[in-house]
Amino acid sequence: MNGQNPGNMTPEQRKIYEQKHREYLARKAAYEKKRQADMQRREAEEAAKRAKMKKFWISAVCVAVSFIIIGLSAFFVTKYLRDVDPSTPKTFTYRINDEKNSVAYSDAFHGNLIFINMRFLRDALSLTESASDNETVKYTSRATKSSVVFKDGSSTAIVRGMNVNMPAPAKVNADECSVPLDTVSYIFTGITISKTASSVRIERTDSVDILAKSTDTLSMVIEFSTDLSEYEQYMNPQGTERDKYLKLVNKENGVGEDYVPDNLVNITESVFAGNADTSGKMDACAEKALYAMVTELRKATGNGYISVLSGYRDYDYQRKVFNRNMNGMTLEQTKTTVTDTAYPGYSEHQTGLCADLWDTRPQYSPTVNPFTDEATATWLKNNAWKFGFILRFPSGKEQVTGYSYESWHFRFVGRYHAQKIASAGITLEEYIDTLK
Ligand SMILES: [Zn+2]
Repeated sequence: MNGQNPGNMTPEQRKIYEQKHREYLARKAAYEKKRQADMQRREAEEAAKRAKMKKFWISAVCVAVSFIIIGLSAFFVTKYLRDVDPSTPKTFTYRINDEKNSVAYSDAFHGNLIFINMRFLRDALSLTESASDNETVKYTSRATKSSVVFKDGSSTAIVRGMNVNMPAPAKVNADECSVPLDTVSYIFTGITISKTASSVRIERTDSVDILAKSTDTLSMVIEFSTDLSEYEQYMNPQGTERDKYLKLVNKENGVGEDYVPDNLVNITESVFAGNADTSGKMDACAEKALYAMVTELRKATGNGYISVLSGYRDYDYQRKVFNRNMNGMTLEQTKTTVTDTAYPGYSEHQTGLCADLWDTRPQYSPTVNPFTDEATATWLKNNAWKFGFILRFPSGKEQVTGYSYESWHFRFVGRYHAQKIASAGITLEEYIDTLK
């Protein structure tokens, strides 16, 4: 209004001014109305959007919860059905003496065969476990030193160095050594096994030993770490020679004062550590086989200290030994007593077919038991048969042989017979009885 105070306006001017002012107020009101309408519309839109989102999340949560409920229901229904269906038990149980081990039912079987993890048996059967690698594991009886070796994927168990066929391959890895249950019942003595649909019970009833019952070793290839081919004919006499070395000498069966074997030779110097004058000879065939055995043993065990201490002993020398150890005892008294020295004329050493081995390290001096380290004793126990020798006075057979357990005394009989004696876990006395 050109800087004019409305109070100074002419009526005409005032009229125009008021007219314009009304128009201004009307425009302002219209603008305000539109702004509010816009705001309301936007708010309505936002609310609709929020409602939509809310709906979406509710649906998603509902779907997720439904899935969880369906899953859990399925799990519990399956579990319930399995529990009540006797044809598919949930677990398989191995009861060994008083100890209980359970595994998933399906894990107990491979095909239709029940398997057992040897680790369940280890302590109950007093076995030592040793593994050369993740694929091979060896169990040795603490009492008898007999051993069995299982190899992953192999159906052959090596029992006392002999191949025994199993109905299915062993499964060996860092955590388990599973073998067919039938194998266990076949190779271990002193246990009873009973089965139900979902369990097996193994009880130790007697002293435990590991045997290779009725194996056919003669068709088996025997491998040595040294080339012993030139000794094969001595270790394994054939034809008329085969049965020549079965002479039974014990407390009931003497050889007499005058008996001297006709083919004595000196025991090879490199394997002998005794007194050559009194006990340094041996039967010619047995001596070759013994040389082969000591050579292979030294190589296989890394124990180069094992040597022959005593081979053939004549009547007079045995009399001196007997008088020193058993002074005053009569022949009849020796027959009813378990001893460790033979009456003169009744010693197997007079046949020239046996030898006492010893570890020449001071801690194994002949007055100390055991005669060598455990690895060497175990090796001999499991391998002597390959060279035609048997452990003549085994532990647990004292009443049969009349002698204390002698881990060092080995008797030559030839491989054919030695394998049969070793696989059956019997003595020469018992073996000769089976031939009658
Ligand atoms: Zn002896």
